[in-house]
Amino acid sequence: MELLINNQLKELLALRKWLHKNPELSGKEKNTSQKLEEFIRQTSPDKIITGLGGYGVAAVYVFGEKGPTVLVRADMDALPIDEVNTFAHKSEVEGVSHKCGHDGHSSILAGLALALKNKPLSNGRIVLLFQPEEETGQGAAKVISDEAFKMIKPDYAIALHNLPGFEKAAIVLKDGPFAAASTGMIVNIKGASSHAAHPEQGNSPVKMLSQAMQEIPEIPEKKSSKFKDFALATIIHAKLGEVAFGTNPGKAVLMATLRTFYNDDMKVLVKEAERLVKSLAEEHKMKVEISYTEEFPATINDKKLNDTIRQVCDELGEEIIEIDEAFRWSEDFGNFTSNFKGVLFGIGAGIDSPGLHNNDYDFPDEILPHAVQVFYHTIKKISNA
Ligand SMILES: [Zn+2]
Ligand SMILES: [Zn+2]
Repeated sequence: MELLINNQLKELLALRKWLHKNPELSGKEKNTSQKLEEFIRQTSPDKIITGLGGYGVAAVYVFGEKGPTVLVRADMDALPIDEVNTFAHKSEVEGVSHKCGHDGHSSILAGLALALKNKPLSNGRIVLLFQPEEETGQGAAKVISDEAFKMIKPDYAIALHNLPGFEKAAIVLKDGPFAAASTGMIVNIKGASSHAAHPEQGNSPVKMLSQAMQEIPEIPEKKSSKFKDFALATIIHAKLGEVAFGTNPGKAVLMATLRTFYNDDMKVLVKEAERLVKSLAEEHKMKVEISYTEEFPATINDKKLNDTIRQVCDELGEEIIEIDEAFRWSEDFGNFTSNFKGVLFGIGAGIDSPGLHNNDYDFPDEILPHAVQVFYHTIKKISNA
């Protein structure tokens, strides 16, 4: 028997297009989660948990007393990007659209629910998690710390992300780090303002700001011996004083994104960036306050789970692409791999696909059945092991 029967593939594609037309931003996935919950109810899971870490929904399928609990996660939030596409399923919400393919990821998980209904497993417990708020890095942590999540107790966690720039449906794998850790660093600098005619009477942060803008990005290279792998610091925003031509500024804000492939390298990068900022503050007699936002742990893949996926792809005849270096972007699935044995793999979205977060991107429907197959056979193998 096929994994998807009758009109199920059509239903899934219709679901994908409905989600694309009705995108919701991170933390606001109310209708999305309702729609997905309705869809998976037809597969009669043993339990449905709603309101997980916000609008998260988990469907729990119990197939036997024996065997592990495998959690499969899909994200479902859209982005504050105005869609330029003109196809029939284009976003109906101004300024919001699915530009990361989370509409596709959720539809794949809905497809996995149908596959489990059509061909039940003989062992284990499968949890299909529709996770909110991935784009801001909040969702995974919120779900995991939710009281209701305690009953799930996954032994393994699996997820995928579609990847433009790779052959359609190719499965992209890497052991160890797969996606970078990243942290938004915010530095508030306080000096003293004065009349622009008398800068000598104030203490402008301009010198400290320009030095910090120059030197923070240089940390990974200058301190390279302290990092075991990739590290990057990118200045993403700076503000000095106000637009007031009569005033010598007394404050500034500087923001940087810090990235590393390993969580302990992130600790080093944060420490070095703080050390630099504090020493510049001392030199220029400024007060500084440092805070952090949008923190993503690194996504670190379990080799054994990857080997299972390799085996499954070989058996199914799905193409595998092994990558040598982790991706520099971050995924909040890193919260799962930090807590459970887990793996995030990529699935090619096409060499010519517009990039993720580009305003003309759209999830390629052709890869959906491939993803359902790989997920299904992987969790089946894990459950029987
Ligand atoms: Zn994204
Ligand atoms: Zn994404």
